[in-house]
Amino acid sequence: MDIILADKSGFCFGVKRAVNESLETKKKHDKRIYTLGPLIHNTDVVNYLKEKDIYPIEMEDIGKLGAGDVVIIRSHGIPLRTKEIMEEKGIIVVDATCPFVSNIQRIVKKYYELGYKIVIVGDKSHPEVIGINGWCGNSAVVTKDGSELEGIRAKVCVVAQTTEKQANWEKVLNVVVKNCKEFIGFNTICKATEERQLSAMELSEKVDMMVVIGGKNSSNTTKLFEICSENCKNTIHVENAKEIPDELLNKNIKSIGVTAGASTPDWIIKEAISKMNEEKNLDFNEQLEFMEKNSTQIAVGQKIKGEVISVNEKEAFLNIGYKVDGILPKSEVTKEDNDNLTDLIKAGDVFFVKVIKRRSDDGYVVLSKLEIERGKAFEEIKKAYEDKSIVNVFIKDASNAGLVGSYKGVRVFVPASHVELHHAANLEQYKGQEMQVNIIEFSDSNNKTRIVASRRELLKAEKNKAEESTWEKLEKGTEVQGEVKRLTDFGAFVEIGGVDGLLHVSEISWGRIDKPGDVLKVGDVVKVFILDADKENKKLSLSMKKLIENPWNNIEEKYLVGNTVMGKVVRFANFGAFIELEPGVDGLVHISQISEKRIAKPSDVLEIGEMVKAKILEVDKEKKKIGLSIREVDEV
Ligand code: SF4
Repeated sequence: MDIILADKSGFCFGVKRAVNESLETKKKHDKRIYTLGPLIHNTDVVNYLKEKDIYPIEMEDIGKLGAGDVVIIRSHGIPLRTKEIMEEKGIIVVDATCPFVSNIQRIVKKYYELGYKIVIVGDKSHPEVIGINGWCGNSAVVTKDGSELEGIRAKVCVVAQTTEKQANWEKVLNVVVKNCKEFIGFNTICKATEERQLSAMELSEKVDMMVVIGGKNSSNTTKLFEICSENCKNTIHVENAKEIPDELLNKNIKSIGVTAGASTPDWIIKEAISKMNEEKNLDFNEQLEFMEKNSTQIAVGQKIKGEVISVNEKEAFLNIGYKVDGILPKSEVTKEDNDNLTDLIKAGDVFFVKVIKRRSDDGYVVLSKLEIERGKAFEEIKKAYEDKSIVNVFIKDASNAGLVGSYKGVRVFVPASHVELHHAANLEQYKGQEMQVNIIEFSDSNNKTRIVASRRELLKAEKNKAEESTWEKLEKGTEVQGEVKRLTDFGAFVEIGGVDGLLHVSEISWGRIDKPGDVLKVGDVVKVFILDADKENKKLSLSMKKLIENPWNNIEEKYLVGNTVMGKVVRFANFGAFIELEPGVDGLVHISQISEKRIAKPSDVLEIGEMVKAKILEVDKEKKKIGLSIREVDEV
């Protein structure tokens, strides 16, 4: 006959912890120790503890105890007020409530205080449920199928007794979804229970007979019995080996499956198995292995996988396979205030998170999704630095020193000198923009990270590329279009496809120009002639006047000596005034030819910009000179 022990069976983390706590407490106090109710639902264990002078008492007996007495709260937990009463009496209270149950108590208290109606999926008379209800002023609706919730319209917070069946939890949740507009649900069914139930269910499908070992009043053992009975008609529930009927074992049974409730110690399981098969010995390591799994330590910085249990606008709760659930605040999912957390995360989603605090004020493990993304982003930036590849940063802030950008949550600094090719006067204008940058410095040592980026490097590379292609096209003697970028006293710099060419002041016009700013301004788009394109030395010389016909070419035909012309006074010299006859052609009226009267200087009688009539006295094409007289016109 094969005897198969279910993978997960026997003492769970919480029960083992409570038993150990009791024995440790007894060592510290040389007197009788009390447990509030039987420590676990197993008569044999309770008797064993009595032998150690650890006795169960009922709630009503608290009144008989006084200061200095020691009372252990068992893994089921108790109502908050009961605990307070004991402490007020000076009783030494040792809280061995299973951390999974304490977590439910905290949830219930928090949401009760926030105005939620508490719904507990479980058994009204179970001590764990009575205890939980005591954390919300005994106001909870306790239900197994949701039938009591038909009329409820309030905002509801749903939790489950740790040993409740998953099917009941889903049934109640369905009713809540239909009836309540606002709800929050915490599936607090203990993993130990789920695992036991699943393991028992699978085993009971394969064997001829199932033996479920555990206290008759243990709810989790009773549920195991129910589950196994559904698959295997030949299922019995016993508290210990003695209760296994001999006649059953004599039947023609080929395989027996064994499972045990969470409050069944391994020696009781061993005894039962021994009775069925003398040679079979239970490996105690299986038990230890399970406990180890359930008491996994959580460390800050640890990366763990979590499944979303529930989510609201402010936070999500995750099952992280630890004795308490994790809380994921919205601020650790997104930095965008306008984002709706319920749009970003859904119940059932599974993803990695990082532990940023082992315990919040409410007792949850505080998690961050952003930290995981930040970690990934950090690696991406490091790679971009090594590969010299481009990254997009979002500019969050600006100061005189430079810009503070963010790459998926990682801080990236762009110094002011690296924002543009030339000095950027107003850094504020970049705030709120995406910017392409190169990472030029990356250091991560002694817990200090410094990431420096440059946009200038990129702009420089782009400019070089554009220049290269422009130089290939530029040809001496051709006409091109460009934009005036800078003005100096000696000329203007005109950009043609990324290449700056010099337009000397003498090449702007055929006429006389004092400074380029008199006729051009930055931003003007002008047509220019390429005087020279020195590709080797990257020097480009431009001319505007070459594109205009030289007005001196036929000057003698246009301006005959003796004729009277009209012109504009454009400048003065000590010896006379210059009159512009057309762009590029100025004539000189000598001071003696300005007026009949004797004048000290031309400005005594003329004004710049004034239109005057003058007689042509002389035209010298070679020397580009035209002599004029205003006086002789006036004499006529
Ligand atoms: S079954 Fe789960 S919740 Fe209950 S005592 Fe054991 S570990 Fe704790």
